[in-house]
Amino acid sequence: MKTHQRSKELYERAVKVIPGGVNSPVRAFRAVGGDPIFIHRGEGAYLYDVDGNRYLDCVGSWGPLILGHAHPDILSAISAQLPNGTTFGAPTELEVLFAEELCEAVPSLEKVRLVSSGTEATMSAIRAARGYTGRDIIVKFEGCYHGHADFLLAKAGSGVATLGLPECAGVPAAVTANTLTLPYNDIEALHATFREYGFSIAGVIVEPVAGNMGCVPPISGFLEALREVTQRYGALLLFDEVMTGFRLAYGGAQERFGILPDLTMLGKIAGGGLPLGAFGGRAEIMDVIAPVGPVYQAGTLSGNPVAVAAGLATVQTLKKQRHVLYERLDRIGGKLADAFRYAAEEAGVTVVVNQIGSMITVFFTDLPAVNNYAQAKTSNTQRFARWFRTLLEEGIYWPPSQFESAFLSDAMSDEDVYQLIETARAGFYKAREA
Ligand code: PMP
Repeated sequence: MKTHQRSKELYERAVKVIPGGVNSPVRAFRAVGGDPIFIHRGEGAYLYDVDGNRYLDCVGSWGPLILGHAHPDILSAISAQLPNGTTFGAPTELEVLFAEELCEAVPSLEKVRLVSSGTEATMSAIRAARGYTGRDIIVKFEGCYHGHADFLLAKAGSGVATLGLPECAGVPAAVTANTLTLPYNDIEALHATFREYGFSIAGVIVEPVAGNMGCVPPISGFLEALREVTQRYGALLLFDEVMTGFRLAYGGAQERFGILPDLTMLGKIAGGGLPLGAFGGRAEIMDVIAPVGPVYQAGTLSGNPVAVAAGLATVQTLKKQRHVLYERLDRIGGKLADAFRYAAEEAGVTVVVNQIGSMITVFFTDLPAVNNYAQAKTSNTQRFARWFRTLLEEGIYWPPSQFESAFLSDAMSDEDVYQLIETARAGFYKAREA
């Protein structure tokens, strides 16, 4: 058995001064039991906790670390920036370079603005969509998470799903009155909503592959329907690529599926592990933003040079490696999904494994498929927790929630993948007992 003595001590101190002992809810392990593990450092594919235990990291800081921890090119870009200062509140050459790289990488981007988190990116993009169209209604999908802005917390995924919160306290009903929420992958419901409200809808925001109810890819025709119906009614299509950007392809889900949104939000990988988000799209839309247009949007640390240095180094590294890296991640992801299905069946546990590229979730459900949040919620979370705890005990750090996608990294070796498969197999036998 691993010891977690130092983590336990830190957690006891943490809960006295930090709500729940954590600075973001899913970290608290509430859904899987046990105390959270405090991390000392990361290197490549591995995390090391404060008790000296090593874990194969399948969380990757919830998405950013596609190249693994402490990647030398990213560390040296950060180190090179540091002696020049950490923030200026004035434009820099790095920001221009970075914006140029982002617009070149992501097919639909003509202009982009930098912010400091994914939440800020979605919040600001929606303000731009409303300002541009002069309309108020936003359509989102159940189980999708777009950060913690008030009006986007309606039927949200991620921690809201993990903790099973029906509504978020502190959000007045009036604030979500212009947010319509539909089941993911439901083309019928989409058309019905547009027939009724179409010309009042400013935009539809979607995770082009959902990662916040566990991994749920779009069914065939869903993204196409979104593109077609928004265009027909003069509404904007917003792809929240905070998770999928630079992950499912160099140009994100929009490159992978060949569907171009009007606005795109980025974060996570684009920030190279530092606090950075971005939103962008067609120039004529982005020019509604101040100081050109009337939609106000600002930030003291927006375009922070240290974060931009990390983001730029990450994007440039991915650009160099993209022809092998994404194919390799697809291969590893596919191999894991097949092996998980086989091992679960062998152990007599029914699961649905959803996987695309380096995003993967094992749903412990009896349903034949998981295409939306209602289906995801049929999962047996006791079984998931048992499986999770077996993995953790054996040195695999998997997301501590049934409703979060795992993220693979290029730092994982083929031996790591083999170890993961063997451990998961043992986990399925344990899960059967739950
Ligand atoms: N959008 C998506 C799709 C996300 O997955 C997240 C975070 N998990 C966010 C937005 C919010 O990003 P942040 O946590 O950086 O505010």
